[in-house]
Amino acid sequence: MKTNKVRTRFAPSPTGYMHVGNLRTALYAYLIAKHEDGTFILRIEDTDQERYVEGAIDVIYNTMKLTGLNHDEGPDIGGDYGPYVQSERKGMYLEYAKQLVGKGEAYYCFCTKERLDSIKSSSEDSKGISKYDKHCLHLSKEEIEDNLAKGIPYVIRQNNPTAGTTTFDDVIYGTISVDNSDLEDMILIKSDGYPTYNFANVVDDHLMGITHVVRGSEYLSSSPKYNRLYEAFGWEIPVYVHCPPIMKDAQHKLSKRNGDASFEDLMEKGYLKDAVINYIALLGWNPGDNQEIFTLQELVEKFDYKNINKSPAIFDPVKLKWMNGEYIKKLSLEEFNAIAKPYYEAVIKNPNINLLKISELLHTRTEILSDISEKVDFFDELPKYSNELYVHKKMKTTIENSLENLEKVLPVLEAIENWELKTIEDTVLNLVVTLGIKNGQLLWPMRTALSGKAMTPGGAFELADILGKEESVKRIKFGIEQLKNNN
Ligand code: GLU
Repeated sequence: MKTNKVRTRFAPSPTGYMHVGNLRTALYAYLIAKHEDGTFILRIEDTDQERYVEGAIDVIYNTMKLTGLNHDEGPDIGGDYGPYVQSERKGMYLEYAKQLVGKGEAYYCFCTKERLDSIKSSSEDSKGISKYDKHCLHLSKEEIEDNLAKGIPYVIRQNNPTAGTTTFDDVIYGTISVDNSDLEDMILIKSDGYPTYNFANVVDDHLMGITHVVRGSEYLSSSPKYNRLYEAFGWEIPVYVHCPPIMKDAQHKLSKRNGDASFEDLMEKGYLKDAVINYIALLGWNPGDNQEIFTLQELVEKFDYKNINKSPAIFDPVKLKWMNGEYIKKLSLEEFNAIAKPYYEAVIKNPNINLLKISELLHTRTEILSDISEKVDFFDELPKYSNELYVHKKMKTTIENSLENLEKVLPVLEAIENWELKTIEDTVLNLVVTLGIKNGQLLWPMRTALSGKAMTPGGAFELADILGKEESVKRIKFGIEQLKNNN
């Protein structure tokens, strides 16, 4: 019985990392299913045994779990259409390939590598593409049986027509027609007995009842051949949703091989998974209005695959950073403090530093967590800095007046008994008034002496409060000495 329920699948090959493009495919497949209250399936495509990477399947499970793209059926949770790992379905593909051989839609090919290499060089067309010459299509039944009996290695190839056209429809790219003379007799079963992706995807998508095939546009050009397979079997063709490429810039595709970030890299750099999911949802899709921040649930509600764009999407790290900052701002102070903690602890060993107070300063000023460590390292230890740092045109500070003002603030700070933000602030601002100088002329040198940095989270008062009286006084004294020596 045919059900109308939408069934989509994410079908990654275990490569050991989650490319941003793959994650977007997973997300779109998930959203298409969930938008219609349908079923989202995880299938592992591991028929390329040469590319097997230890632990790679765990990367897939972990990513799905972490991002909340929960599948309804899959190798780890089962389902009615298993097994969900292609290597466990190996025997099945051969049977289906044989059915096609029986129908004249596929054939055994015993050609050696040497022969294939020799036709490759002689049969290149103007585009540099060479096609198999159908040599083995013409073997007699006896020759084939004889070769099989002798155990001669073989592959099974699709038998494509050489005249006419094949047409196929994609929701995003529209109707595409290709000349059959361009269709390679692609290999369905390899000499190691495993199916190629080209064959396994069709067989599995059919057997698993997939209604919408969601994948990258790199598969677009092969899709006419997949349609011929569906037709040869007499199977219903699914809805195709090919997603636009994700580009690094106008010319280059985003690729892990080019050193571009994978999902794991982004996590390691301190991006929040929700921000990443939100951002990649917008790589090729928009809701038709100005909304940019979406929870996964909102995406489920709003996502209409018909709005996927066919023009390439540019991965913009600046926008991703901004969006991550927006997600960080939405955290509570305690949540922020908890995720920032490892980045503090990497550089702050002093147990007297109140990390929560640092979080108050950084919470709304942080775009990615990995920036945190270098922003706060000075709390632990004053870095080496040059006196030039005291000189600031806008603040009207010079080496001379910085020294003068630090010398004035030192005894005032030393006299504070109740060392807390408000008292420090009031006391120092009183001094500014008494001296009749501009705020910056005291606060800039004070902050410089306390941090040794031009940019700090928070100003002089906050830093003094967090560092504590003893350390603050020590650093101001050091600043005075350094300015006196003017080196
Ligand atoms: N295993 C293929 C890949 O990882 C999946 C393509 C598809 O979704 O059909 O690229």
